[in-house]
Amino acid sequence: MDHASLALLIDALSFAAQQHRNQRRLDPDASPYINHPIDLIRVLSVEGGVHDPQILCAALLHDVLEDSATTHQELLERFGAEICNLVMEVSDDTALPKVERRRQQVLRARSASQGARLIKLADKISNLRQIPPNWDVSRAQSYFDFAAEVINQFRGTHVELESLFELAFAKRPSDDVSKER
Ligand code: ZN
Repeated sequence: MDHASLALLIDALSFAAQQHRNQRRLDPDASPYINHPIDLIRVLSVEGGVHDPQILCAALLHDVLEDSATTHQELLERFGAEICNLVMEVSDDTALPKVERRRQQVLRARSASQGARLIKLADKISNLRQIPPNWDVSRAQSYFDFAAEVINQFRGTHVELESLFELAFAKRPSDDVSKER
């Protein structure tokens, strides 16, 4: 990675940390939200061998439009059109209800660019590995199935990441028949 790309990546990390500074993950420790985008670039680069700086920057920024006050214009000015477009591609319209958001995400996955597909793969891998422990079985199952539906729209994108997705999906919780009602 050249110096300019490294600087851009550090700027994206810094910007994302700032935008998500008041948010926490839903894990028992209520970890800082930035751990999630950092996990995505770890999955992409360390596990998946994806080193494209634009894709890694967009992965760090993938939730700033959805989950912070960041605007499209701000992203465009600071990170340029390519990264901004990637972030747009992987962002849901938060004005829509959850069911419709999920439906749109599946539909849009079909025509997603290669970079957006890789970010989606890393996001779903990371999310399946870290389902919030307070989710009940049916909520977790529903998320696993939704994640698979998204990934199924672009099978054949990246062998390594898709096999990591399969490994994560294998942990889909089964119906808890022992649970008292
Ligand atoms: Zn995410």
